[in-house]
Amino acid sequence: MHPTKIYVLSGFLGAGKTSVVRHMLCSMPDLLGTVVMVNEFGQLGIDGQLLERPGLNLYQLVNGCICCLLEHDLLITLGRVLETQKPQRILLEASGVADAANLRRSLGDSSLQDKAQIAKIVTVLDARMWERRAALGKLFLSQLAQADQIVLNKIDLIAPDKTAVLEAALRAHFPQAQVVSTVNGEVPTAFFWREAANNFTPAPFSVGFGQNQEPGFVACHLQSSSSISRDAFTAFWSSPPTGLLRSKGQVLFTDGSRHFFDWVDGQLDWHDPLDSIKGTYLALIGSGMDADAAQKQLDSLLSVS
Ligand SMILES: [Zn+2]
Repeated sequence: MHPTKIYVLSGFLGAGKTSVVRHMLCSMPDLLGTVVMVNEFGQLGIDGQLLERPGLNLYQLVNGCICCLLEHDLLITLGRVLETQKPQRILLEASGVADAANLRRSLGDSSLQDKAQIAKIVTVLDARMWERRAALGKLFLSQLAQADQIVLNKIDLIAPDKTAVLEAALRAHFPQAQVVSTVNGEVPTAFFWREAANNFTPAPFSVGFGQNQEPGFVACHLQSSSSISRDAFTAFWSSPPTGLLRSKGQVLFTDGSRHFFDWVDGQLDWHDPLDSIKGTYLALIGSGMDADAAQKQLDSLLSVS
């Protein structure tokens, strides 16, 4: 019996991990033998809803991060899945605030020995974020330093001549990782499934990266069957809460239309709505964000109509 291979998707908030998982699932002839586990720092399990499809074995770990608070839950869930299903592979999407070094350690836990092993850690990087690495801190860099593969995503959002420069910088800083550039998380399947080398050595990332302080992340959310006004929503995004890093969700507007949205790095994008969400469903994650004030600002969306 071969041990189950665990493919870990790591990467900072909004990097596009779910897009990569979606792309990989679409490219598979069938989903037999595959289990997907999705971890979200927030409460709502939005990424899980984005991945949902017939025949998919999906587990969600929400309201915390599997590298720290939910480490125990992760090991219990993995143990159960390995015991009852013995899948060939598990795609494990970590939360955007998970430290990949902790994940590598947890997944080497003795309780999993012989039953499962890390196939690789794939770290997804939003191409626009590299320039802000000093401000994003140690966690952001650890995700890259622990990567067997780095997916440099969203290159359509940077100047065309920047891509090669960025790839070179990543290869210099993280020589342990293979690097591929993508748009919309569309990683070439052969690249993704390629076996990683056996003896992994993380890259050192001490040089010139400024602060070592771990930012404290906070999440808040709004979930309601009510609709909200388009004007209130627009006003919210014209002055989002200070410290906000990432938001996503679905809104039901007062005109009855529903829209899925994504907010990363000051940019709001619209997508087709998910049928499974009827009302309004909105999650925020920030660091150094005043959670109470942000929650008030969210709740006020419902009072204006
Ligand atoms: Zn964690």
